[in-house]
Amino acid sequence: MTETTGENSNKNTLKRNRPGTKLEDAYQFEHVSLEEINSAFALQEYLQSLIRKDKENLDLLVELPPDQDPEAWQYEHLRQLCLELNYLVVQLESECNRQSCPDMKADEWMYLCAAHPTPMNCCAIDYIVHTLDGATTMLNSHKHFPSRISISNNSVKHYQSIARRLYRIFAHAWFHHREVFESFENETFLYGRFMKLSDRYGLVAKNLLIIPQNSAEDSNGDETSTESSEII
Ligand SMILES: [Zn+2]
Ligand SMILES: [Zn+2]
Repeated sequence: MTETTGENSNKNTLKRNRPGTKLEDAYQFEHVSLEEINSAFALQEYLQSLIRKDKENLDLLVELPPDQDPEAWQYEHLRQLCLELNYLVVQLESECNRQSCPDMKADEWMYLCAAHPTPMNCCAIDYIVHTLDGATTMLNSHKHFPSRISISNNSVKHYQSIARRLYRIFAHAWFHHREVFESFENETFLYGRFMKLSDRYGLVAKNLLIIPQNSAEDSNGDETSTESSEII
């Protein structure tokens, strides 16, 4: 594959959502197979096309397309997660603020925001926005990701820390804004996709997963500690 510019060189030339498009109406483009896409951004377009076609088919969504680099595939997924998590932030902003959530907590954990020269105790919504911005900036940074087609080992090592922090956004929403979490998840299946991806590629260590695996389960399970723990 050669690296060229020109995002619109595939057959569907106009793929964008008009300003004011509702989430449920957004991204209603025709599904295209990977072979049909002739662009440096083929994997991204393919992933977005799969999501539009069937966002509930989590296995298919994370399945590595034939002859593709698993690291590049994870990269596109992580970028896509950041894009879609912005919609969750918009929904959280209606009830998550400095007064309701002065600390970034989930269950008994408290997280310090790593988006600053020294980690800070940002309120939850600030933590979420800073973390999402930080992850997006890193994934788009030429320094950390000089190529999105061939990902170096140096770049791959950032995946776990990005995923670990993005997970906390879901966790805060699950523990503190359950209705927002559930309505968002019912619409997007984004948490399900994230977990499938994490599971498949070992992105978030199992011992850091605090949302009960079966969401129908109650959260008051076999907690080992009631102490609040700070973690970066
Ligand atoms: Zn909150
Ligand atoms: Zn911050």
